Amino acid sequence: MPGKQPTILAHGGAGSDNAHSDGTDRACLIGLKLLQARTPVLEAVCQTVEILEDDPRFNAGTGSRKRSDGSVRMDAACMDSRRHFGAVSAIQHIKNPIHIARAVADSEYRLLAGEDAHRYALELGFKEMDMTRVESNAPGTDTVGAVVFDGEQFAAALSTGGTGGSRPGRVGDVPLIGCGLYAGEHGAVCATGHGESITLNLTAYRTYEMLGRGIVPQEALDTALGWFKDSQDIGLLIVSQKGHAGGSNRSMAWSTLSGD
Ligand code: ASP
Repeated sequence: MPGKQPTILAHGGAGSDNAHSDGTDRACLIGLKLLQARTPVLEAVCQTVEILEDDPRFNAGTGSRKRSDGSVRMDAACMDSRRHFGAVSAIQHIKNPIHIARAVADSEYRLLAGEDAHRYALELGFKEMDMTRVESNAPGTDTVGAVVFDGEQFAAALSTGGTGGSRPGRVGDVPLIGCGLYAGEHGAVCATGHGESITLNLTAYRTYEMLGRGIVPQEALDTALGWFKDSQDIGLLIVSQKGHAGGSNRSMAWSTLSGD
């Protein structure tokens, strides 16, 4: 950039195989086309994440990992710079949790959880999905996310099957505003990796706050990565009017595209 060029970044999670960046490339291509067609930023970022949820190589939607008891629960969240925020937590049997988070953003609520979030999705007409096809409970993350800028507004979205093999009941950073993601007038940020550390660091909000102080995305990224120990995996995507940056202290499939 810098400037007003539509920009999108998408990731396949801290720890995801770089070889899977064809999946994040494809998501960026579709997301950029949506931005160029003047699709509102929240819609564009959620449709981008839908592409990643449908890619079984990533731990979200169709590719969600099992918890230690063999069950699957998913979290998703989205936010734009007009302060629309919505999230779902511990939802199951839904193909694209990101669209339920999007529906919550349009409602009077900010976060719906568990069976009641599932019921809400069915009431809205979303189809159930058989999650018994899920095969892996390998430890690790490989969750998905994206940030977008349409030249005026910013948005961020995240979706995850959580940490494979985790204790039932565990919820990470994804549905917590300012932890996994944040968007405002200065930019958009989404995080991936060790959810407990991301939450304790208020990672997305504190990174966003640096953008508000005029710090360029690459410097904000380097600073935020420094908040984490080597044992804690962390990846970030950032976009602001001053540019964009993405990176992780692990391998991470991620992509970016800009264009008028
Ligand atoms: N942060 C997610 C969680 O803790 C996982 C990830 O991003 O890889 O649930």
